[in-house]
Amino acid sequence: MTTASISSGPLLAARDDAVQALAGAARAGATVVLSGHVQPDADALGSTLALAEGLRRCGARVLATFPEPFTLPSSLGWLPGAAELVDPAALPAQVDLFVSLDAASPGRLGCLAPLLGSAGRSVVVDHHASNPGFGAVRLVDPQAAATVVLVADLLEQLDVELDQQLATCLYAGLAADTGSFRFGNTSPGTHELAARLLRTGIDHAAISRRLFDTAPFGWLGLLSVVTGRAVLEPEVGAGVVWTWSTGAEAREHGLAPDQLEALVDVVRATAEADVACVLKGQDDGSWVVSMRSRGATDVSRVAMALGGGGHRAAAGYTSAHDLPGTMDELRMELARGL
Ligand code: 5GP
Ligand code: MN
Repeated sequence: MTTASISSGPLLAARDDAVQALAGAARAGATVVLSGHVQPDADALGSTLALAEGLRRCGARVLATFPEPFTLPSSLGWLPGAAELVDPAALPAQVDLFVSLDAASPGRLGCLAPLLGSAGRSVVVDHHASNPGFGAVRLVDPQAAATVVLVADLLEQLDVELDQQLATCLYAGLAADTGSFRFGNTSPGTHELAARLLRTGIDHAAISRRLFDTAPFGWLGLLSVVTGRAVLEPEVGAGVVWTWSTGAEAREHGLAPDQLEALVDVVRATAEADVACVLKGQDDGSWVVSMRSRGATDVSRVAMALGGGGHRAAAGYTSAHDLPGTMDELRMELARGL
């Protein structure tokens, strides 16, 4: 049974180009580097690890990596193959093929963007509506719920049979990017792919528990502080609720800074605000902004206007201003174009 998501002409051509590039590299035993975006999430890492393993089985010399800082969030370190991820500092200067996964722009590849540029060939696999188009082969499908959907399709085209190792990586990305099949990007095809993955016998409950329902006790303390300082501004755009934290504050609670990522999923429940924002202070003084929309606001447009990108309902960017300056700029952009 096929659950291929791609049906339109130009996408089909891009998919075939990607399959040709990947199969050709595997046949030739070429060196293939695969990477997702900086501070990878389950879709970026799940895509990378699943396609890396698939290409390895086809004969390629595969180096799976992700951009600096080369620190895995604890919620993802258990993914099969994660232990073999290669530090980007250890990569060869010249590679035959670079595969970019779930990165909405070259900038999202961080320190690896130059390697994509210098590689003999590059394939970009992504599902962000904001992707401007980069790389030699561009398999970019904004209709795909997750990049792992496109990877599952590629693996099928490469005649790689799904087993539990591959299915675990793919399921992690699919569950994460669809909010466990709750978000609007969930389609019949999403559930059909999930069914294929479950049929391999994966422990989906354990995957979800590790991804979404596991945090150190200190997370409760951090959550109470961060939600306690949340601000509701119903008059801004279609209403915004926002709060902030920093990597330093996470450490005060005994947590790694990546534990800040889950905060927006709590803040977004606010009924009075169409947009929820969490501003995450970085050690270099910049603010990484995560936005979620309940539907009326296209946060991908807002993020793009401020130098970032994403999807209509989930997007982000980085601000070099201080906290008040970042919020001033964000309020102006949210008020525009509604
Ligand atoms: P998150 O808030 O979970 O970090 O990101 C939400 C969505 O926006 C994800 O799909 C992510 O890839 C995208 N995104 C987040 N930050 C940026 C950014 O700085 N630039 C771009 N192009 N996309 C981003
Ligand atoms: Mn994704």
